[in-house]
Amino acid sequence: MRQSQLFTKTRREAPADETAKNAQLLIRAGFVHKEMAGVYSFLPLGLRVLKKIEDIVREEMDAVGGQEIRMATLHPSEPWKQTGAWENVDVLFKIQSRTEKEYALGQSEEEIVTPIAQEYAPSYKDLPVAIYQIGQKYRDELRAKSGIMRGREFGMKDMYSFHTSQEDFEKFYERAKEAYLRVYSRCGLVAKVTEASGGSFSEKLSYEFMVITDAGEDDILYCEACTHCANVEVAKEKEGDSCPKCGKGTLKKAKASEVGNVFDLGQKYARDFGFSYKDAEGKDQLPIMGCYGIGITRLMGVIAETLSDEKGLSWPEAIAPYDVHLLVLTTDDAASVAFADSLYEDLSKKGKKVLYDDRSVRAGEKFADADLIGIPARVIVGKDSVAKGEVELVHRATGQMEKVTKETLLAW
Ligand code: ATP
Ligand code: MG
Repeated sequence: MRQSQLFTKTRREAPADETAKNAQLLIRAGFVHKEMAGVYSFLPLGLRVLKKIEDIVREEMDAVGGQEIRMATLHPSEPWKQTGAWENVDVLFKIQSRTEKEYALGQSEEEIVTPIAQEYAPSYKDLPVAIYQIGQKYRDELRAKSGIMRGREFGMKDMYSFHTSQEDFEKFYERAKEAYLRVYSRCGLVAKVTEASGGSFSEKLSYEFMVITDAGEDDILYCEACTHCANVEVAKEKEGDSCPKCGKGTLKKAKASEVGNVFDLGQKYARDFGFSYKDAEGKDQLPIMGCYGIGITRLMGVIAETLSDEKGLSWPEAIAPYDVHLLVLTTDDAASVAFADSLYEDLSKKGKKVLYDDRSVRAGEKFADADLIGIPARVIVGKDSVAKGEVELVHRATGQMEKVTKETLLAW
């Protein structure tokens, strides 16, 4: 992509009402556009990151046997009334039609997925099944001050699984937890797993996936020596206590953001919808259900928060909008431009995704924009590049710089 053609521009200042660092950086770099508190549009650079995160999540969900679907987000009110959520879920957006019919906007989709699974799983032979989607969710959140980390409209991956036994469910639950940890590490994050009670869904055990960041809205206690981690809200211990799991480490307190969670839903929704299947003896049984959420846009927000510096964003390779940011410093020098043009073509042919800053602006502006946008590798074509056949390769995350020949660069 030639940057001169990119319709978005960087900006020096974020909107005055935007207090979250993730959104300030993403707006300034032209990744997102703010519509109102908690609602953002994704622009070309932002959408590329989002799609890469979605692809990682999709690969990992497919790998545990998840089948992707796309559920409606505009819902009839009936299933929400059937489960009690119409009355009990305070964040549910309810819409009144001019026909006086009422609708709900999807905030989670147990109400839609359970009847779908029910239709296609009349027998134990049809189970287990895991169904997921990646899409928009709507919640009437009171606080929406965390940028894209807490939206009123936001991206989520939600998976739901149905099983004939608790044992089968628990096996899948473990596999899903492992898949979650792979998602976060592929996105360049370290997530800690907390045990929590099921909250509004059930009294059963659930797990939250937490990433330490001051921008997070949760407080966690974690062990410095082992993987133990708990939400302060539920923990019996306090900071400084010795770890209840390993007994060796001491517990530290930190702010964290919940980037995903998994719930054992038991038979609640099967009961609400009268979803029974025939077992091997022909008897009616209720399936055991699990649900598994990942906050896709929150994840992107957490990455923007934690992997950035005073100059701007710094994307890990796996989710960067482009692999290489190619900068030509002197656009009035025809030889430099020809050199950079050929590099752009050759890198692209090699399969590298390149953002090519071919704009006629000062070198300082190009450097500042490249720092702000945060593409992991920067290739700089200066005046002496042509004579020496060399470019500068700068790594955004470390600032490390090396001179490489065009050939070395293309072989990389
Ligand atoms: P939180 O406690 O942060 O409100 P939650 O318990 O309501 O989260 P779930 O309903 O289980 O979360 O949603 C699954 C995942 O979706 C969460 O783990 C989180 O990563 C993400 N998420 C939840 N609410 C929002 C939101 N308003 N904006 C962005 N992401 C969200
Ligand atoms: Mg919530």
